Amino acid sequence: MKSVISELSILVTDDSLTQRQYAKELCSDLGVKDLHDAANGADALKVLEARSVDVVLVDLEMPIMDGVELIRSMAQKKMTSSVIILSAKDPILIASVGTMAEADGLHVLGTFQKPLLPDALECSLLRFIQDIKNQASEPKAPVENEVTALELSEALANGELTLAFQPKLTVHGLMLKGVEALARWRHPQKGAISPGVFIPLAERHGMIDALTRNLLQLAFEHKRSWQNYGLRFNLAFNLSPLSLADSDMVDWLCKLTEDYGISPSEVTFEVTENALLGELASAIRTLARLRLKGFHISIDDYGTGFANAQQLSRVPATELKIDRSLVHRAAARPQQRTILASTVDLAKKLNLTTVAEGVETEEDFRIITDLGVDLVQGYYLSKPLFPDDLLVWIKSGLSQLRRQQEQK
Ligand code: C2E
Ligand code: CA
Ligand code: CA
Repeated sequence: MKSVISELSILVTDDSLTQRQYAKELCSDLGVKDLHDAANGADALKVLEARSVDVVLVDLEMPIMDGVELIRSMAQKKMTSSVIILSAKDPILIASVGTMAEADGLHVLGTFQKPLLPDALECSLLRFIQDIKNQASEPKAPVENEVTALELSEALANGELTLAFQPKLTVHGLMLKGVEALARWRHPQKGAISPGVFIPLAERHGMIDALTRNLLQLAFEHKRSWQNYGLRFNLAFNLSPLSLADSDMVDWLCKLTEDYGISPSEVTFEVTENALLGELASAIRTLARLRLKGFHISIDDYGTGFANAQQLSRVPATELKIDRSLVHRAAARPQQRTILASTVDLAKKLNLTTVAEGVETEEDFRIITDLGVDLVQGYYLSKPLFPDDLLVWIKSGLSQLRRQQEQK
């Protein structure tokens, strides 16, 4: 395992000889000895075919094969997993290439406008080392088990689906504002199946309405029991875009809240940004009715889709959840930070409560505090918890967290 920067192997790609030499000198100053360079994407691929390299510095503007093409090829060929993206072009472009590279499965250590500064390079390389250490200490994720629609329908019928709840806290004072319900399925033989697998499965096989209603009922049961303990906080629940087309859902929901003695004003439905792009008219009709009944609406995963400000302003939402891809590591990526700041700004202008999700580190937390984000959710504060653990966390974990934060 490489524990210091000087042990890394680095490939510098840039068509300008001066820039290449400059970047190599910065690496040498940090003690790196295993250094390679290439003047365009095609030459870079040749280097990568011949040897394994830890980190590739990618200049976007190069002749023959530019940085964007190089990133795509590297990802397709699974050549190296970590890149630092550089360009003289505008920050938004660099950041969007960074997002593309991550979507392709590459690990982006940093995206910078030229000239590359020594501190920026060092921080990016330290991040690489930290990541190797984290990977070594994390238990390997089990291979995702294949599950069938039949197994899912049996699980639904047998009540095998459960919920975990992740706290949503105020950035200032770390008050518990609410919890987000997240579907969980532990298959008796195959173990834990991710909602990223079984929710789309349910959507493809016409089971999503049954699943949603089943889990909503379960969520309301928990909320009622919390209320019985005197605990009142918001319950957030994810709604599939398909549920927005279920015209009976709103009436069914109103009846359910009455049956459980729950106030709609203490329930938020999270819908993804992209759900609003499809059957927009029917989606907005359902959301408007939910709002009229007093429920809150949150636009989830904001930043991953393509909704523009005008589309956003048409949705009767009360909250904007900024996706983890914009939040996590924004401190190290000036362009991403800029986009994050303007997103927070937009949300405030539209009078929406802002939530940052995927806050994993102290650095992430600091940046969203500086930007004036209202609520926060993420592993840094708490992972999703099963109901019994949530109660323990509310009783003791939360105050411990506040004390730790005060000491910082
Ligand atoms: P989501 O709504 O964006 O939920 C947040 C996801 O991020 C959850 O993954 C949560 O465990 C994870 N997460 C929370 N904090 C952090 C963090 O700091 N770092 C990282 N890396 N991840 C964090 P999960 O539980 O696997 O859920 C995945 C997705 O499945 C959810 O994304 C949501 O879209 C969907 N989903 C979950 N439960 C339901 C449900 O009951 N109904 C529907 N329709 N969709 C659901
Ligand atoms: Ca969500
Ligand atoms: Ca989300």
